[in-house]
Amino acid sequence: MSYTVVVGAFAHETNTFVSEPVTRSDFQERQEYLDGGVRENLRGTETAVGGVIDVADEEDVELVHTVSAFATPGGVVDDETYDFYTDRILTGVRDHIDELDGVILPLHGAMVSESHTDGEGPLIEAVRDLVGESIPIVVTLDLHGNVSERMVEAADALVAYETYPHLDKAETGRRGMRLLIRAMENAISPAMHFERPPMIAYQPKAYTPDGPMAEVMAHARRLEERDGVLKVNVLPGFYHADILEMGFTVPVVTDDDPDLARQVSRELAELAWEMREAFVEEYPKPAEAIEQARERAADLEPGDGPIVMADFGSNPGGGGASNGTTVLREMLDQGVENAGWAIMYDPEAVDDCLEAGVGNRVTTTIGGKSDDRHGEPIEDIDGYVKAITDGRYVNTGTSHSGQGVQNDIGTTVRFQCGQDDSMTVVLARTRASAFDAEIWRHIGQPPERLSMICIPSLIAFLGDYEPMSSEVILIDTPGTSAVNPARFEYSKIPRPIFPLDDLDEDAYPA
Ligand SMILES: [Zn+2]
Repeated sequence: MSYTVVVGAFAHETNTFVSEPVTRSDFQERQEYLDGGVRENLRGTETAVGGVIDVADEEDVELVHTVSAFATPGGVVDDETYDFYTDRILTGVRDHIDELDGVILPLHGAMVSESHTDGEGPLIEAVRDLVGESIPIVVTLDLHGNVSERMVEAADALVAYETYPHLDKAETGRRGMRLLIRAMENAISPAMHFERPPMIAYQPKAYTPDGPMAEVMAHARRLEERDGVLKVNVLPGFYHADILEMGFTVPVVTDDDPDLARQVSRELAELAWEMREAFVEEYPKPAEAIEQARERAADLEPGDGPIVMADFGSNPGGGGASNGTTVLREMLDQGVENAGWAIMYDPEAVDDCLEAGVGNRVTTTIGGKSDDRHGEPIEDIDGYVKAITDGRYVNTGTSHSGQGVQNDIGTTVRFQCGQDDSMTVVLARTRASAFDAEIWRHIGQPPERLSMICIPSLIAFLGDYEPMSSEVILIDTPGTSAVNPARFEYSKIPRPIFPLDDLDEDAYPA
């Protein structure tokens, strides 16, 4: 038989250390598709909604699309915006309540609105209130979600990404949808439990191809082979949010067996806790990192590929300003050649370059303009305007941002500066990530031919850049997305927590 399922996607990763609130125009700048526009734009894309559509098409499920909205991670979502998108989803559910068989919500898990520190919990609860207990609700999440009691209570099943960089977004949508279909068929009856060991995992250590997270994820996959276990999620969470719900969580879904869910969740949470020291690391500061990069670059042979570097603190993917100057300044001061930095969010510098025009020199000030957390502006920098584009390109890489997704970041400038003008800075009017390397190609600079590239990112950019790189250097920089949690003042997260507080071996399980 055919089923009718309402889909509502509303995702934001909220960094509560960013003072500027996020409004509807921030969503419209990145992605806001309504009703039929959702399917039109996201079918076949490497997104959770794309995966949901894949399975619906195969399995004769009729989808009722309401919204798909996401904004670049940033400050708290204002109430008006939160209400607008959640109302669209709730209205879709209400309007189809008579023929409805299930609901799937591709969310993030780390949204904070002005009124809710747990942005997702109240939305899932409101949907539950409308549909009652017998209609299943499946929620897909980013791996950086801060899972709350309310989310676990209100949803039938949570299904999170298994990879970071997130290369399984569509697969997560497909997994969620398959689970929902089995629940609608009454073939399963999901039960959930989640554990929250008192620890913070440094974000780069949540890298799933390697290191401690690879080990925890491998164990999660083994646990999923146990009879009755439907899904084992591991979410290291998002600690750039000073909220009570912040934390490393292990939500487990079983078939009608809460005890098994608890047992499996506990086993995996204990493994993560035992490995807590491995989730913390010291990274080089800019001066040291660029010296190291220069030494390596001197030995590069043609075709080796660039040394790729992350500027943690200004990562727009975590709420950073995307205009950090600490690494760029070192690159300029140390006279690096054939290097690149993208994307520098700086509307004023873009305007200066537009005024000068392509083929002309210009003196401008770059970066550090949003606040005093991301380094001082680089003043009176002389450079050459090599190209100006409309900022439209489609993600082509195996990237965290989703293959096939359209970008429209507005007027973008290729600014050549530094040693012999061989440093390319990509300037834009939008605070957007360069996780997909197509940004370079669309502006006429093949990234493979640079010797050094710095991206404001944690490790999300590695999905597309690591295969072309000769080496990766991760850099500890200041900013609202800085990796070391000790750089932030917390007042609301659950304490004590490792590594901010001294905790005994036996602090968990309590
Ligand atoms: Zn994420």
